[in-house]
Amino acid sequence: APVLLWFRRDLRLSDHAALRAAVAAGGPVIPVVLRDALVEGLGTAPQWRLGLGLEALDAALEEKGSRLILRSGRAVEMLPALVEETGARAVYWSRAYDPESVARDTEVKAALKARDVDAQSFAGHLMFEPWTVETKQGQFYKVYTPFWKAVRGRDVAAPEATPGRIPAPANWPESERLEDWALGAGMRRGAGVVRPYVQLGERAAQSRLGAFMASKVADYDYGRDRVAEDGTSCLSENLSLGEISPAQCWHAGMRAHEDGKPGAETFLKELVWREFAYHLLWHTPRLATDNWREDWDAFPWNEDERLAEVKAWKQGRTGVPFVDAGLREMYVTGRMHNRARMVVASYLTKHLMCHWKIGMHWFEDCLIDWDPASNAMGWQWSAGSGPDATPYFRVFNPITQRERFDPQRAYVTRWIAEGRSSPSAEALSYFEAIPESWSLSPDDAYPAPVVGVDEGRKRALAAYENRDF
Ligand code: FAD
Repeated sequence: APVLLWFRRDLRLSDHAALRAAVAAGGPVIPVVLRDALVEGLGTAPQWRLGLGLEALDAALEEKGSRLILRSGRAVEMLPALVEETGARAVYWSRAYDPESVARDTEVKAALKARDVDAQSFAGHLMFEPWTVETKQGQFYKVYTPFWKAVRGRDVAAPEATPGRIPAPANWPESERLEDWALGAGMRRGAGVVRPYVQLGERAAQSRLGAFMASKVADYDYGRDRVAEDGTSCLSENLSLGEISPAQCWHAGMRAHEDGKPGAETFLKELVWREFAYHLLWHTPRLATDNWREDWDAFPWNEDERLAEVKAWKQGRTGVPFVDAGLREMYVTGRMHNRARMVVASYLTKHLMCHWKIGMHWFEDCLIDWDPASNAMGWQWSAGSGPDATPYFRVFNPITQRERFDPQRAYVTRWIAEGRSSPSAEALSYFEAIPESWSLSPDDAYPAPVVGVDEGRKRALAAYENRDF
């Protein structure tokens, strides 16, 4: 009898425990993807990127004599229906750790078990599952460094190869067409502007990892903060959809570390930040919805999305070049350098005193590497409301940040067209990317700051001093 293999954010064929188990079961394997509420609820760019990822996965499956079966509907109904239709005896999938997925998967498992179907979930999206790391007191970790110390010496199983063949059923069940799902429908700028920045699928992810280890990891400690340089791995795009496993990245990092490459340990630590984000989200799901420190509910956040400052921030028109460059980079490429993410987040939550949720949702709509845990943690870290966060009174100065991390102004020049006689192609492509309704042109004057850098800082600190918590 066949095994149904339910793909979600694990769009790869190597180092895939659920796929391996399905093949080992000896019968046919039917790979399935469901368009459910979680897929429909994705932000514009992540949903578009998922569509591309599914296309690549389908092509990879085809090389193994297999294919994807697509269905729309709630997993708790569709999977039992597919079991019935195909005579499958088992349903396997890779575990997810965000609260919505956990709720869905728990319900699905119970529904399948009630029908005597072998429903099994497998690890793979994380190296250290949230419930396997605890303090001596049996608590979860709220601070990164002890979390890192607790996991750094652990064995991470060596990645496994792709199965040679994926046995197909004699008759394939019917499938919807990916084109009809129109996952990119909201992403007007997708094909024309963002697509060239995408590195799609498992093979591309592996070459990204290889190229990073060959030429960048040794300088990573220095290069990772140089916003204009390509000093980081850019693997977040692929990790987000599971086109590469964290264990594959970890083992490559370990080899580089053993070879004495200086930046390798820092890279391993960054991978563990991703694990830590999931650790926090799994143990405290409110990380993604509410101030993690509840006393922050009393802070006078601006929560009105319609404020002119919010609009200026989203459009990269705050009049602060480093902030605007980051936001434009994200709108055009679907990514933003980590240093710029910290600066634009600090600016929104401190200089503009806007609620971090506004920024989190904008990122969720624009990032092709959107990740429910890292995005939520990143925003609460920046705002000061999160666990192990940077204190609120540590306000990033976007001018000195630019001087330190973009000393030649290469980054701001790359992304800002206004006021320049010959703007770069990237700066101009921002104007191709934005909707007409924004009514912006590269010939506009560059705006004056929506709030003075000192003035905004003082205002934020005064609000923090006067807070009643
Ligand atoms: P590298 O420097 O090559 O690092 C390797 C990997 O380590 C990354 O791919 C990523 O998986 C992990 N990593 C690195 N830094 C972090 C970090 N600070 N937190 C968690 N994991 C990290 N990352 C996302 O993947 N998706 C998001 O939606 C996201 N939103 C963020 C929002 C804010 C406000 C901030 C401050 C950070 C956010 N990050 C997010 C974390 C970080 O900016 C990105 O992971 C990083 O820029 C990805 O680039 P890279 O793959 O080249 O990273």
